[in-house]
Amino acid sequence: MSSRTTPHTVTLGTPLSPASVRVMLLGSGELGKEVLIALQRLGVETLAVDRYDHAPGQQVAHHARTITMSDAEQLRALVLAERPDLVVPEIEAIATPVLEELEAQGVVRVIPTARAARLTMDREGIRRLACETLGLPTSPYVFADSLADLQAAIDHKIGYPCVVKPVVSSSGKGQSKIDGPADVQAAWDVAMAGGRVSHTRVIVEGFVDFDYEITLLTVRAVGTSGQIETQFCEPIGHLQVSGDYVESWQPQPMRAEALRRAREIAKAVTDDLGGQGVFGVELFIKGDAVWFSEVSPRPHDTGLVTLTTQVQSEFELHARAILGLPVNTALRTPGASAVIYGGIDAQAVVFDGVAEALSVPNTDLRLFGKPESFAKRRMGVALAFDADVDVARQRAKEAARRVKPRAA
Ligand code: AMP
Repeated sequence: MSSRTTPHTVTLGTPLSPASVRVMLLGSGELGKEVLIALQRLGVETLAVDRYDHAPGQQVAHHARTITMSDAEQLRALVLAERPDLVVPEIEAIATPVLEELEAQGVVRVIPTARAARLTMDREGIRRLACETLGLPTSPYVFADSLADLQAAIDHKIGYPCVVKPVVSSSGKGQSKIDGPADVQAAWDVAMAGGRVSHTRVIVEGFVDFDYEITLLTVRAVGTSGQIETQFCEPIGHLQVSGDYVESWQPQPMRAEALRRAREIAKAVTDDLGGQGVFGVELFIKGDAVWFSEVSPRPHDTGLVTLTTQVQSEFELHARAILGLPVNTALRTPGASAVIYGGIDAQAVVFDGVAEALSVPNTDLRLFGKPESFAKRRMGVALAFDADVDVARQRAKEAARRVKPRAA
């Protein structure tokens, strides 16, 4: 597939007037909220779409709409009624064939492209592209549609230990590690319960015994040449618990050869996906060896740290890149982020300890404004910076620990 995309630029105008540039976010969680804020600052007219009312991004956009984004008819009707200049997917579970159809008809521009949104909406499209088409190193994998297929895949190709994940899922939902035959049935059951859509397909991957994992934020933006150029942010290290990110920091120190390979892989996959914007390329590293794991064609949750570490956060980079503006991926200071979970199941929670959290030196907070808390729902994030990344990590964790959601 060609990597050359004609660069798009837009002329910014006045929101809520015929001269406005209108951008529709499909998914308006905490990441979409920050993209919307970055767009608002450039005078873009924003429309925040989510599956429930008062989603974080809907609280900061000019317009809010609530639909089922995986429903083709609802999505088509909304895009045709609103006719935004740009459609920006922020989640995977979207009726992407509709976006491909509307993009082909010239109705909308999809970020980064409708094809990229389709290929990355489940683990199968992107894994086959990366490994089978582009020849990038990945863990060994098999797709399975039944418990029997899963067992056969482990017995004949993958072995133990391995990791099972629903093909459509995020934040570790439905994911488990299998250490031996006794774990297979439970892993299948967890995957069936945790998938995003009613789907019985899973991927089983060989377990990669990596030294550390990174997100390499990769930006395709119009450069000084007038062509799309690829730029990289400093690597972000992160810690995952049960497949969900709990802590991230930037920069992650890397050997020169591992960084070179990581960039080469990120360039190959983002060249193929094309378009303009930020991509979160997830990679596993062991010594100088690098494996491709996943890519999000949008800002990445572990990149929340860039709100404190970079001259332009990943959200500002995304906003600029999609509008055809120049970007600056420079690091401002080392720093870290730590997730604040809901801890309880309740509506309209209150947060104790915010002042105590912010009294930790060089920290900041984002409370996402989600209307409902669940024990394992990400409700906010603590940020910290310091010349020493380990000090920043300790401070971010301490600030996050001090924030205590409780029922109102
Ligand atoms: P994913 O949802 O695919 O990004 O997986 C979430 C996390 O699970 C990753 O960030 C890794 O920490 C871990 N993980 C996923 N796949 C593997 C694998 N094949 N080997 C080792 N760890 C993995």
